[in-house]
Amino acid sequence: MSDPINNWQPTACILCSRNCGIEVEVQGREMKRIRGDKAHPISAGYLCQKAQRLNYYQNHADRLTTPLRRTADGTFEAISWDTAIAEIAGKLVALRDTYGGESLAYFGGGGQGNHLAGPYGKALRTAMQTRNYYSALAQEKTGGFWVDGRLYGRQNCHATEDVEHADVVVFIGTNPWQSHGIRNARVFLRELHKDPNRKMIVIDPRRTETAALADLHLQVRPGTDAFLLAAILATIVREGAEDAEFLASRTTGFDAVRTALLDVPIEAYAKRAGIAVEAVQQAARWITNANRCAVRTDLGIEHTLHSTLNQYLRALLYLLTGNFNRPGGNVLHTALIPLMGHLEEGEQQKRSAVTKFPFITNLLPPNILPAEINNDDSSRTRGLLIDSANPLVSMPDTQAYREAFAKLDLLVVIDVAMTETAQLAHYVLPASSQFEKAEATFFTMEFPANAFHLRRPLFEPLPGTLTEPEIYTRLIRAMGALPSDFSDLKAAAGQGRLAFAMAFQKFMKQQPELADFGPVILYETLGPTLPDGLAGAAYLWATAHQFAAKHPDAVRRAGHKGEGAMLGESLFESIISSPSGVLFSVNEYEEAWNFVRHKDHRIHLEIPEMLAELRELCADEPERTADYPFVLMAGERRSYNANTIYRDPAWRKDDPDGALRIHPDDAALMSIDNGGWVQCESKGGAVIARVEITDTVLPGVVTLPHGYGLEYPDENSIRKLTGVNINELTSVEDCDALAGTPWHKHIPVRLSLVTK
Ligand code: SF4
Repeated sequence: MSDPINNWQPTACILCSRNCGIEVEVQGREMKRIRGDKAHPISAGYLCQKAQRLNYYQNHADRLTTPLRRTADGTFEAISWDTAIAEIAGKLVALRDTYGGESLAYFGGGGQGNHLAGPYGKALRTAMQTRNYYSALAQEKTGGFWVDGRLYGRQNCHATEDVEHADVVVFIGTNPWQSHGIRNARVFLRELHKDPNRKMIVIDPRRTETAALADLHLQVRPGTDAFLLAAILATIVREGAEDAEFLASRTTGFDAVRTALLDVPIEAYAKRAGIAVEAVQQAARWITNANRCAVRTDLGIEHTLHSTLNQYLRALLYLLTGNFNRPGGNVLHTALIPLMGHLEEGEQQKRSAVTKFPFITNLLPPNILPAEINNDDSSRTRGLLIDSANPLVSMPDTQAYREAFAKLDLLVVIDVAMTETAQLAHYVLPASSQFEKAEATFFTMEFPANAFHLRRPLFEPLPGTLTEPEIYTRLIRAMGALPSDFSDLKAAAGQGRLAFAMAFQKFMKQQPELADFGPVILYETLGPTLPDGLAGAAYLWATAHQFAAKHPDAVRRAGHKGEGAMLGESLFESIISSPSGVLFSVNEYEEAWNFVRHKDHRIHLEIPEMLAELRELCADEPERTADYPFVLMAGERRSYNANTIYRDPAWRKDDPDGALRIHPDDAALMSIDNGGWVQCESKGGAVIARVEITDTVLPGVVTLPHGYGLEYPDENSIRKLTGVNINELTSVEDCDALAGTPWHKHIPVRLSLVTK
């Protein structure tokens, strides 16, 4: 609850997908102090050190306060909102009508916790008549979504991990101490570490803070997770330790999986992964002997070789052992607004225009975007609108992006800050920050109790900025995609939400072609009747009704009352009147089986493409070459890095320029001192980095963090670069063949000493 005397206001941290509830002491436009919000239904008062410094996100020298247009000499000039909207809409329509809607593309969908604009983006894509949608989600998770689609029947069937009730917790390619991803991570990890009856297994090439707390750390060689996971699974089936009863009653296809796993040469694969066979057996036995085992994975296996296969094998770990849809296992869950959709595969599957890369869910991977733009094909991408993303720094191959952006007829960037991407745009539109508008996260991934947090604005929009709902609505209107007026709906909204419900239903029945513009229509009609600052959340009214109609029992268990439409109203009312967040569903474990969408409600274990890739793994592949004798794991998460959302480098308390970490043996061989400087060179580019010597990395392996390589003006307004942009080293070519997810954790590099 807000505290008007000390002006403590509830909101959420926006730095990682946990979106912990926080309270902010507001003074003027400053965030003076920050503490955990005990009323938040999930985080219940927890926060980490990164959240304490959110004022550096909210107030900094790179905030944008006026629309900008590029001039002939390459500089920007300030223009009015009316001019910007009219010109951008006119150019989008001209490109669409000349070259077809597929000549346009959209990139975005929100930084962490900046998701409320997502459905407005869909409305804009409808006006643009394009399906081309790129997002950071598609450089991380789409391989997993594809696997989920095959296993459970829909690509938006997503399993969370109930680590809190597990006897054995397996963390693969994730360091929750720094990256979180699980509830109240540091408290949980300490408890798990101290509990003599529970075990923690960590699979990670680095001895991370989490690995240091583990009962068993399998320090796998970079890029060999698939070998290690296959060896563990093969051990399980060779020992006959799979859960035969679960497999018989809940799955199909185990025989094919078993046959493939029995062919795995365990010793050779363990050796390839750099792990003793005894340790592989230990892990397999702890997992199979556990009453409850949960598996949590993240970018470490998504951003490396065999990315999609890794995600299949990690699923087999909990499926073959029956640790699924039960307490302490991995569980399918509800989502108030699913982050991803579902796309049927097959001959009709959508593909990109130039590279013919298949969509997964409704997304294309950022790895292909430069090639979709930078060519002379008549179907190439000519216009791009980017919202709340900085692909020039955060997507693979900065140089390829630079060259591609130079070829665009139209590049529009909507953002709160003058990012590296914005600097290349034809138009830049300044958005209100996440604390100046209604916001929310769609990371609703809890089970059995799932929560949603509609955050109220802490501040008025910075003068000159607009919220995304307003920007999108103006653009769509200027493109002529909507009827001139919704007077009947507005009049009904004035009479109350029940009158509005009837009018809206009638309207949509009469004009079903406007369905994709629903968020904009609700913003313009119902929005003005909502509490101050919440107009952008109007479409949650329809969302709440749809969810309550689909999951009435779960919604009632979460404390909402009523039958039929009244239950949806009750849920929506709770969402808009709960500034610290609200439970929206509470499920029974047995209900999770309803979320398996195959007609037989069984999990289909056999995925031929994955079993073929498993068979093709080759334990003799060389890890490194003479030209590039090191493997760089890029994108390490540390105490003071986040995504590119923090631009002011002063927010960091340590590691000011994001050091390159190297093993002492390698440092000695190269005569590098701690704090010295090296050039790190890949086939794609070279960067200069400060060195930190540490035995937490393996010999032959170096690491760099993400979130650096950003420019920020100094006290003389000269833009200075801080740290290394890791994507100067990555290549668009190095990615998963199926999902297009990049191999950031396995970049061959060479090092040389430099003086600085
Ligand atoms: S875990 Fe830390 S960074 Fe993540 S949302 Fe919570 S406070 Fe923010």
